[in-house]
Amino acid sequence: MTATRTALVSGANRGIGFEIVRQLARLGVLAVIGSRDPKDGLAAAEKLQSEGLDVPVVALDVDREGSAAEAVAEVKRLYGRLDVLVNNAAVLIDSPGGFKASLFDLTGDIARQTFETNLLGPLRLIQAAAPLMREQGYGRIVNVSSSAGQLAEMGRGYPAYRMSKTALNALTRIAAAELSEGNIKVNAMCPGWVRTEMGGANADRSPEQGADTAVWLATLPDEGPTGGFFRDRKPIAW
Ligand code: NAP
Repeated sequence: MTATRTALVSGANRGIGFEIVRQLARLGVLAVIGSRDPKDGLAAAEKLQSEGLDVPVVALDVDREGSAAEAVAEVKRLYGRLDVLVNNAAVLIDSPGGFKASLFDLTGDIARQTFETNLLGPLRLIQAAAPLMREQGYGRIVNVSSSAGQLAEMGRGYPAYRMSKTALNALTRIAAAELSEGNIKVNAMCPGWVRTEMGGANADRSPEQGADTAVWLATLPDEGPTGGFFRDRKPIAW
């Protein structure tokens, strides 16, 4: 990676996305916080500023048609390029019961909202970023997925979230195939169970640990993999 690489991370005002931005910025990447509410993004940027990391913020609500294209255009306006896209923003709104939640209690509203954010959000951002990456002949796209979306491990609980992450994995494979020319790599990763608002206080991993594989994929060398699914920097089953 050179110091001129730029990155856009969705949902980076808190949790794993915030930590991905911090780690990328420490590596010298011009990492941009994508934040649904720019005020939250600015508060996050101030925290990083106090660590000596200069990190800009763009408004990015992945649910809103047009927002992804506007955010990518703003990064292009600021830096002239976009090298890395991390699709991190997501919701986990299945209820009640979490891992006990039944498919038969799932409402259309919850399913639609979950797919809007967790699948269509990344799709919109990939569609917005890909033309720039093709033009540059360089791109790294990281989809923050989950073991909850692994067909190999599929079972009950969080049905909308699980299906949305399986679909995100399919998006990863399709985008990797379509973008295989021109040094653009598209990979999915699972951060493990991480102490964030989504993961809760009992999770066994810190946000630092959760961000590591995403940052590794975001900075892959040209001979690195594409179309894979990783945890702890190692391939895992789909
Ligand atoms: P989190 O603490 O709940 O943070 C979620 C982030 O996504 C927030 O910044 C939130 O913004 C943002 N977001 C939600 N909807 C959005 C939208 N429509 N537009 C833009 N941003 C939106 O979650 P996390 O634990 O850091 O999770 C990050 C990623 O890791 C997700 O993809 C999640 O599925 C995955 N993951 C997490 C775990 C875990 O144990 N934590 C495990 C496996 C996978 P607001 O602040 O505006 O709500």
